[in-house]
Amino acid sequence: MSSPAGNRTALPPLSGLPLEELTTALIPLPAYRARQIFKWISRGIADFTEMKNLPRSLREELAGRFTVYSSAVSAELPDPDGTVKLQIRLADGAKIEAVLLADGRERKTACLSTQAGCPAQCVFCKTGQLGFKRNLSSSEIVEQFLFLRRIESAISNIVVMGMGEPLLNLAELRRAVSVLTCREGLGLSPRRITVSTCGIAGGIRDLADNGPRVRLAVSLTAAEENLRGRLMPISVSNPLPALKDSLRYYQEKGGGRVTLEAALFAGINTHAGAASAMAAFAHGLDAAINLIPWNPVAGLEFEGVPLREPAAKEVQEFSRLLEKDGLTVTRRYRKGRSISGACGQLGSIQ
Ligand code: SF4
Repeated sequence: MSSPAGNRTALPPLSGLPLEELTTALIPLPAYRARQIFKWISRGIADFTEMKNLPRSLREELAGRFTVYSSAVSAELPDPDGTVKLQIRLADGAKIEAVLLADGRERKTACLSTQAGCPAQCVFCKTGQLGFKRNLSSSEIVEQFLFLRRIESAISNIVVMGMGEPLLNLAELRRAVSVLTCREGLGLSPRRITVSTCGIAGGIRDLADNGPRVRLAVSLTAAEENLRGRLMPISVSNPLPALKDSLRYYQEKGGGRVTLEAALFAGINTHAGAASAMAAFAHGLDAAINLIPWNPVAGLEFEGVPLREPAAKEVQEFSRLLEKDGLTVTRRYRKGRSISGACGQLGSIQ
């Protein structure tokens, strides 16, 4: 796939500017010009010369001051199941990944990244083992969606579940969501955007207070404090009581139902005590549980022992125990495994 970014990375990109910011950036141009440019970018136009309703002199002037995109697609990996993973090169050479997910009901979902690498270091996640490089800008987040839309024009949903912890980059995510949901452009519904966090309590409160009103998923994985801390080191500074308080606060503020995600590993977090701890955590929350049998990633270990995906029977039994406690339980489809595009596998082609 060709690069719209070229080598003009020194110029500021316009792709990630919410309409109000774009209008300000283009002063003294009148606001209607900003709206025209915003619409072109939303349609995927990557070059000022293609913005046909702008005078040629203005197109030339804009090209001397700005770029449209800041990043470029460097590899496209399709999976036979319809999933497509893109590797994207950022202006500073960092690489990130974005994934187009196609589920059985023909719904197309874009899975976006918010950081290059991740500071959370969950032991079961390839991205977490890469270390943390930096937060992505709003442009770098929006461009992932625009690149995926070149492959599939009818993307209806977004999950912010790619590389990185979104709530540690909330300011830029907020700007990106503003661009993606603006009615003058792409006009996606915020309720079709799901942000998945590893459980940053302060970020959940910030989301509750200041929006955006997206759907929230929390990667819980284990509701026993000790086990969770060993699987997800960032939870030591976000202990379960603080996490649950933040989720209660989020729901009091009208945030709606949350999804509690649980990546399951054979013999580690599937025992009966793990199920009852998860049920106790969910008690009092409006929550559904989403079980994710772990997608194998070579070389990942838990305390010196290679992680293994759970047997179907193990998952069924865990699910049964949760349902016995009155919980709504779903199981995530497995998609994109052949291209390492499944949950926890991103970063495999660094
Ligand atoms: S699971 Fe998410 S939060 Fe944890 S290391 Fe991976 S990308 Fe970061």
